[in-house]
Amino acid sequence: MEIVKQPATWKLPEEWFTGDAWADVLYRGEGESRARLNTVRFAPGARTAWHSHSLGQTLYVIEGIALIQPRGGEIIEAHPGDVIYTPPGEKHWHGASPDRFMAHLALWEGDDTAWAEKVTDADYGGPRTSTRTVS
Ligand code: MN
Repeated sequence: MEIVKQPATWKLPEEWFTGDAWADVLYRGEGESRARLNTVRFAPGARTAWHSHSLGQTLYVIEGIALIQPRGGEIIEAHPGDVIYTPPGEKHWHGASPDRFMAHLALWEGDDTAWAEKVTDADYGGPRTSTRTVS
């Protein structure tokens, strides 16, 4: 057993993110393991560019309201405790809502994320489907 010395928080690059987002490594597999587990924190309005993961990705929302959109689909509005799975190769983006911070865990494998264009304000402001219904 060991207490893991974590690398410093780093700011995610402008090429792949709109607005400010930061990541912390919780686990990074070595040897045969390609597992990656990060905490990612987004400022209000911040989001990834469109991208895909060759072996898929699981997100777990910790705080705030996460917006997650698959290419060709509506934006999913996810809440703390929600788990969102994106299958291998599916193009998508994820980020914070416009008015509050959002944090999620991100679990994926390997370093071959395929990055594409940034998410436009029009796409970011598009229709949403909530994981919760308000009564
Ligand atoms: Mn992703």
